[in-house]
Amino acid sequence: MRGKLLVAAVAMIGFLFCVSGTGQAQEKEKAPAKKIAIRAGRLIDGKSDTPIANALILVEGEKIVAVSAGGTAPAGVELIDLSKATVLPGLVDTHTHLLLNGDVTAEDYDVQLLKQSIPYRAILSARNARIALEHGFTTMRDLETEGAMYADVDIKNAIANGEVPGPRMQVATRAMTPTGMYPLLGYSWELQVPKGVQYVDGVEGARKAVREQVMYGADWIKYYSDRRYHFEADGVLHSMVNFTDEEAKAIVDETHRLGKKVAAHAIGSDGIAAALRAGVDTIEHGDGLTDALMDEMVRKGVYWVPTITVGAYVAPGRGGNWTKMVDLEKAAFQKALKKNVKIAMGTDAGGFDWKELNQAKEFEYYVNYGMTPMQAIRSGTTVPAELLGWSDKMGTIEAGKWADLVAVSGDPLKDITELERAKFVMKGGVVFKNELR
Ligand SMILES: [Zn+2]
Repeated sequence: MRGKLLVAAVAMIGFLFCVSGTGQAQEKEKAPAKKIAIRAGRLIDGKSDTPIANALILVEGEKIVAVSAGGTAPAGVELIDLSKATVLPGLVDTHTHLLLNGDVTAEDYDVQLLKQSIPYRAILSARNARIALEHGFTTMRDLETEGAMYADVDIKNAIANGEVPGPRMQVATRAMTPTGMYPLLGYSWELQVPKGVQYVDGVEGARKAVREQVMYGADWIKYYSDRRYHFEADGVLHSMVNFTDEEAKAIVDETHRLGKKVAAHAIGSDGIAAALRAGVDTIEHGDGLTDALMDEMVRKGVYWVPTITVGAYVAPGRGGNWTKMVDLEKAAFQKALKKNVKIAMGTDAGGFDWKELNQAKEFEYYVNYGMTPMQAIRSGTTVPAELLGWSDKMGTIEAGKWADLVAVSGDPLKDITELERAKFVMKGGVVFKNELR
């Protein structure tokens, strides 16, 4: 009897939890919204082609309520003086791995999955989230946990609940490949080793896996479209495609049916082509993009997330084709710019050590590869806002948007590396960092 009561009580608690804890941040107790005025020497608002001099930004609670050129701060409101700095919208990285800390070699990767517990990795991910915010990244799309199951949903919720500092998150949870097509591989068949993804097979399996990941909090579904990248006589980077077309289409269809979006890791031209056939929303890496594939992306409105930083970072350690792939991607980037492919800033942070490289280095590559500094800034603000479906909430500095702001000392339109030295960071109207006092 007592046993039955206990079971009933546990079931009841579980039920209540499901009803109230939908994986979203709970609304906090409403205190009167704090008002802050910010004086920006130079404002890059994400909309105008030229900066606004001596701008005044009024913030109330977590939102921006007014932006004007010049103007006087209302009396009795806290004034933050950034008159010697450039203020920009909070930066966005659309491809990160908070649960990973560098994987130049297969061994680096295996050690993390085999020797570190998921709780330990989750603790490091909180540290990484803080580093990202310190660097001015107020929003990130985290594209899979690499064997840490659904821990990205936990870090996302801990940040949203104000327990630990970090960017706003959209997360992809476990990612998918068919059986045997992603590490950990090569261990004795007698051992059950962890896998970096969820193995998914068949059309029904694909639909079930999507439902499962969405149930546990995935905002995005990520799958690996290809592997084994190699150059062929045509000079194109080819690859081996992982899923059958039927399986990939089932993943995309089920994800869209549930109101979510799909990111495909696709490096070789064959993998990119397969992902586009399946109808994905974003192509990750995309080194092997050809003219025809870029045209198809433009036609279908698919975003490209180039992750140049990680490619350049791992190439020396990995050798083989990786150096050639960096050069190839540079050429693809220049073509994509001419063709107006939608390029969203993404770095693959976590593929490199969070403590070693600042994600904002990616902007430097984009400018070196041919973007104007303003285009590069938009690739990391307004374009990702659109990719994330949050254009009405972020990406620009204007009334009604979240007060997510970054300031740098110099002029990033003259020197894009200024973005690698964020001196002031505000997220949702709360100052996280201010070295410009
Ligand atoms: Zn990645």
